Amino acid sequence: MHNSISSAPWAPVAAPSPFAALGLIAPLVAALSAKGYTEPSPIQAQAVPPLLTGRDLLGCAQTGTGKTAAFALPILQRLHAAPKPRTPFAPRVLVLTPTRELAAQIGQSFSDYGQHLKLRHAVIFGGVGQHPQVKALRAGCDILVATPGRLLDLHQQGYLKLGQLEVFVLDEADRMLDMGFIHDVRRIIALLPAKRQTLFFSATLPDPILELSRVLLTDPVKVEVTPQATTAERVDQKVCFVERTQKLPLLVHLLNQHLDQLTLVFIRTKHGANKLATQLERHGLPTAAIHGNKSQNARTRALEDFRAGKLRVLVATDIAARGLDIKGVGLVVNFDLPDEPESYVHRIGRTARAGADGVAIALCDVEDRTALHQIQRLIRQQLEPMTEHEWHSASTQQAVESRHYHPTTSSRPASNQGRSSQQRGGGRSRSPRAGGRQFARR
Ligand code: AMP
Repeated sequence: MHNSISSAPWAPVAAPSPFAALGLIAPLVAALSAKGYTEPSPIQAQAVPPLLTGRDLLGCAQTGTGKTAAFALPILQRLHAAPKPRTPFAPRVLVLTPTRELAAQIGQSFSDYGQHLKLRHAVIFGGVGQHPQVKALRAGCDILVATPGRLLDLHQQGYLKLGQLEVFVLDEADRMLDMGFIHDVRRIIALLPAKRQTLFFSATLPDPILELSRVLLTDPVKVEVTPQATTAERVDQKVCFVERTQKLPLLVHLLNQHLDQLTLVFIRTKHGANKLATQLERHGLPTAAIHGNKSQNARTRALEDFRAGKLRVLVATDIAARGLDIKGVGLVVNFDLPDEPESYVHRIGRTARAGADGVAIALCDVEDRTALHQIQRLIRQQLEPMTEHEWHSASTQQAVESRHYHPTTSSRPASNQGRSSQQRGGGRSRSPRAGGRQFARR
C-alpha cells in the first residue's frame, strides 16, 4: 500500500533526451529511459513544461495517452525541488481517481518514475482493510493517490489532513460523474486549501464537468489529445450483425480464431459477466470475470493471471475495466454495445495501446441499433461489417441499417439501406479533432 521510493544512483544518460528538453531533471529522465520511453507523448510534450512552472491544467485525455506520466513527472520534480519534512496524515499532493485499479496503477507510476528520488507515496482505496493504509498515512507520505469513498472515510476518522496540500489532481472527472462519485468529489474539494496547483483530467467534457473545471481551475493551460483519432487510426474496428441468441457461439468462434491473443470481452451487467465467463470456460477457454461485485483480491488475481497469460479471456463490465493498462490485449469484443458511446471509445482503448495495433469487434443485435448509430456518429467512422461467418444475420443488418426501423416492424424492408449515419449528417459539437499517434513507435 505504501511505498518508499529508493535513492539508488542512476546511470548517466549519454545522448540528449527529448524528456530533458522538456525541462525534466536527470533522475526522472533516467527512470523514463529505464522504462524504454524514447519520445514524450503529445500530452506529455504539451503538459510537462507549463506544469513545471506551477500552472493549472485542463487535460482532455483518457488513459492510454500517457497522461499519468504527464502529471506525475512534473509533480515529482516540483516536490523534489522544494523538499519538506513529511508530516503524519498530511500529504503534499492528492491524486483522486475513480477506481481501485487506476489508483494502484498511478501509484506504481509514481514509484517507477520517482525511483531515483527520495519521495514517498501511498495509495488508498476501498474494498480492503484500512489498517495498512492508515499506517502509511501515519508514517507520512508526500503523494497520496486515492479513490473518493475511502478518502472521505479516512478523513472523517481523522486520519487525513488536507490543509497542507500543494497539488490536487482530479483524474477521469467524467467517470467520477458516471459512477456517481461527483458529490464525494465536491465534498473533498471543499476540504482543500484555496492556494494550490490543480490538474483536471477528463476524456470528455459534459456540462457538469466543464462547470466543475471552471470552479476549480485558475487560468489553466488547456491540453487536448484525441483518443478518438487514435482509435480510428490504430484499432481495426469491425461489427458483426447477429441474433441475440447467437452471440455466444459467434464469440466462441471469434475467440478460437484469435487463439494467440489475449482478449477482453465487455458486457453490460455483472450477472451477464459471470454467466458468460462460465459459458466460455465450458467451451474450454480459460476465462475470468471482473466487475464491481468481485472482491479486490479476486480482481487482482484475475488481472495477474490475465497479464501472465494464464487466462485467455477476461470478461469485464465498464467500471471494472476502466483505465486498466493491460499489455498485449490483441482483441476487444463488445458482447453488447454500451449505452454511452464514449464508453465504446474507452473499451476499445484497451487494445492498440502505446503503438501496438489491435482489433475491436462489436456484436450487434437489433437492440444495439441505437447504440451503434451513436458510436459511429461519435467516432465519425463506420465499423466494418464482418459477414463471412455462419452467424451473420442479414435481417439484423438490414434492421440496424434501416433509418425507419421500429422494433415492432422489424421485418419491414429497409428503405434507406446502406446510408451511413455519417452520410445522414451525424456529428457532435464536441467531436474529436483529427490527431496523430500518442506514442512514437519503437
Ligand atoms: P497512461 O495514459 O498514463 O495510462 O499510459 C498508458 C501507457 O503508456 C502506460 O503503459 C505507460 O507506461 C505508457 N507510456 C507513457 N508514456 C510513454 C512514452 N512517452 N512512451 C512510451 N510509452 C509510454
